[in-house]
Amino acid sequence: MKIILLGAPGAGKGTQAEKICEKFNIPAISTGNIIREALRSGTEMGLKAKSYMDEGKLVPDEVVIGIIKERLAKEDCAGGFILDGFPRTIPQAEALDKMGIVIDKVVDIEVADDKIAARMSGRRVCEKCGASYHLEFKKPSVDGVCDACSGTLVQRKDDHPDTVLSRLEIYHKETEPLKSYYEAQNKLVIVEGQDEVADTTRLVFEALE
Ligand code: ADP
Ligand code: ZN
Repeated sequence: MKIILLGAPGAGKGTQAEKICEKFNIPAISTGNIIREALRSGTEMGLKAKSYMDEGKLVPDEVVIGIIKERLAKEDCAGGFILDGFPRTIPQAEALDKMGIVIDKVVDIEVADDKIAARMSGRRVCEKCGASYHLEFKKPSVDGVCDACSGTLVQRKDDHPDTVLSRLEIYHKETEPLKSYYEAQNKLVIVEGQDEVADTTRLVFEALE
């Protein structure tokens, strides 16, 4: 199954992508994670993306399209995949169509803007391996320490409150039009994001049936 997860930044796409990955045994691909990984290892692509990302702006289409092309060509994607955070613009969606990739379902996780801002302030990531946590919804076993690698948990620069507002604005302007794009292809399913992660997961699984 080839799945796209849509939704505002902080709507919980990453968390749900992990759940789908476990259940369907297909890779969850996050362009945000790939870019952050490139940043940590100091590649040229990472350096190019850094200023956009830190300011909460979208990385240029040609850069992320290149990333996705490369990633989807890998063997583990042959049996399907979940895209988390791609596409984020109409040209990105068109690029996917042009690659000849036929998406089965697009699940849009809806969360109101005021809730998003509150959620994002609690988000933390491991500076070493990139695993993500939340002070309230996805706590690590030990405060401030990554369960996976014992790295230190930090707040992403683009999760600071002032940046969050501009990310939401960009989401509404650039990404939300993808709902109509995929509705026209009869692929869109809308899920209301719930307060409990497990409740959202149940709705996401229903949407994928
Ligand atoms: P979130 O889902 O919380 O917004 P991501 O980790 O998906 O976080 O993305 C973080 C940042 O990475 C974005 O604000 C943007 O700068 C960059 N990015 C990730 N995916 C894309 C994309 N498809 N197009 C453009 N920029 C992207
Ligand atoms: Zn870690």
